[in-house]
Amino acid sequence: MTSPLIAGNWKMNGVSADLAEAMALAEALESQPASVRVALCPPATLIERMSRAVMGSAVLVGGEDCHAQITGAFTGDISAEMLADAGAKLVIVGHSERRAGHGETDSIVAAKALAAVRAGLEPIICVGETLAEREAGRALAVVAVQIAGSVPAALGGAAVTVAYEPVWAIGTGLTPTIAQIEEVHRAIRASLGQALGEAGAAVAILYGGSVKPSNASEILKAAEVGGALVGGASLKAADFLQIVRAI
Ligand code: PEP
Repeated sequence: MTSPLIAGNWKMNGVSADLAEAMALAEALESQPASVRVALCPPATLIERMSRAVMGSAVLVGGEDCHAQITGAFTGDISAEMLADAGAKLVIVGHSERRAGHGETDSIVAAKALAAVRAGLEPIICVGETLAEREAGRALAVVAVQIAGSVPAALGGAAVTVAYEPVWAIGTGLTPTIAQIEEVHRAIRASLGQALGEAGAAVAILYGGSVKPSNASEILKAAEVGGALVGGASLKAADFLQIVRAI
């Protein structure tokens, strides 16, 4: 099993002045045991500058999305190779805001995950059910279909992370119970075994959705939780550090 990962998703937040938060995090992590991996995924405009600002520290920098192709006529898009060139080590793919707002299907997400690995990046592949799907008793089935479609067998053996992010928990302050998180994470582990064979056992499964300093410790102790993907609470180094230290 890879070391736990605490990754921050800045979404469409952050300008030059906010690099101070990344630098404060890098400085504070000097005293942190290396057993936890820590990443920040800022908007693409900040990746190169953040990578330079935290160079030599424990902070990894990642992208929030990538295109599946290497180059071409895709106005406004950024390839995984471009992210790597800017200093990224990871990239989030299939975030629910991309799936819902940009029509990303499981097969598009799978192509992006393969592109990430092609470029030497670790994809963080996101899955998660909507509130309507949970209320209809379909959470496990939905997530199983997303894993089967978004995690191609060719990823087996590569550095890959999966994030379970219930859509209804993102940015809402709502979180599933620990039993619900464990139930879905166990189901994801089984689906990863089907998708990747033995390699599925080594994939860290992050929980994401309203993780904050006050609930991080309990969530990070749950079975099959290999870290967290954190949105709002990753924007301030002080909050994010408390989550990193809760593991
Ligand atoms: C996210 O968008 O990946 C996320 C988990 O957001 P938040 O922590 O703000 O719910």
